[in-house]
Amino acid sequence: MENGFFDQLGFRWLFDAAADALLLIDAEGRIALSNTAAQEMFGRSGSQLDGQSVECLMPQRFRLHHRELRQAYGRDPHRRTAGLGLELVALKSSGEEFPAEISLSPLHANGQAFTLATVHNISSRKQLERDLLVKRREMDALQKVHVAAQTAAVIAHELNQPLLAISSYSKSALLMLDGNSPNPERLRQAVAGCELQTRRAGESIRELLAFLNMSECPAEIFDINREIREMLDTACAEHHLQVDSHLELELDLPPVKANRTHIQKTLLNLFHNGIEAMESGRIADPMLTVHTRSLPDEPLVQVSVADNGPGFSPDQRKRLFDPFFTTKSSGIGMGLAISRSLVEANGGHLWLENDCLPGAQFHLTLPVSP
Ligand code: ADP
Repeated sequence: MENGFFDQLGFRWLFDAAADALLLIDAEGRIALSNTAAQEMFGRSGSQLDGQSVECLMPQRFRLHHRELRQAYGRDPHRRTAGLGLELVALKSSGEEFPAEISLSPLHANGQAFTLATVHNISSRKQLERDLLVKRREMDALQKVHVAAQTAAVIAHELNQPLLAISSYSKSALLMLDGNSPNPERLRQAVAGCELQTRRAGESIRELLAFLNMSECPAEIFDINREIREMLDTACAEHHLQVDSHLELELDLPPVKANRTHIQKTLLNLFHNGIEAMESGRIADPMLTVHTRSLPDEPLVQVSVADNGPGFSPDQRKRLFDPFFTTKSSGIGMGLAISRSLVEANGGHLWLENDCLPGAQFHLTLPVSP
């Protein structure tokens, strides 16, 4: 009868021409009219659809629930905005299921209430969503592995230096013991060196954990010139290479405000790197130069550390601060990456001088105490 009604109005052609699958459903949930796109979508002819309960277009397991929803909608169609997308599982005559998005609009014709359902097959969108989800899970897993690897590398970096020092102190202690008359004082120094390095390794790990939990890294006000002298002594004592150092430390430099341990670590790392570079480059007259000054226009102190080692190739320059970049057989490649984040966490910057030949020069800034 409804077909007749649409045909009478001459709208049938319009209904069939619609690209979307359209179903006109009566108050009892029967399909009053279906268009060509709907017939193609469900693999049924018009006569196979018209007059059927709309629940025949979905798998058995959803029919009862759908009937309840439909009846609730029939009682109050305006409770849900007409046209709002609703996702359902639809069923083709072949038995194949597919996800569908349905938009509903209530309408009245010939004194009867109908619902116009627009149905979209959203299989490809759902597939895309599933693919995206899989990709996102893969990315999440990769990121977790990356974070775990970085954390492991940072811990390894913190332990590497003290372990190397402990190993060389122990070796020299063993050599002394194997000799004819071990010198008790030198033996004591080697054992004391081991003890100091063990303590430093423990402190490093504690500091690292504190750094990860930034609230536990209080800033102190201190004299950076003094830290430079102490860290330079420490670094030189841990290498066989006899290094000359040249200090140009500004007198009356204002105190800086930063976490002292972070800055000690950064200085030590720059000094170790410089000494190791000169060692591996077999430099005849190795020299470390450290320069401090307060910047004229900003409340910052700048520290510059230079060596006369082999410097860098252009490729090394680009990757220097990348985690895991190392050219050393016993290196981990986290030193500069960690140093940069430590300096930045304290309100400063760490960078490489572009124009430094021969050798390498690093600069870092730190805020002066207000
Ligand atoms: P690691 O010391 O474990 O290699 P770093 O991040 O501290 O890690 O350094 C990364 C790399 O940068 C080093 O392996 C080295 O190749 C290069 N490098 C760092 N400092 C210097 C320097 N002063 N002179 C030459 N190369 C350096």
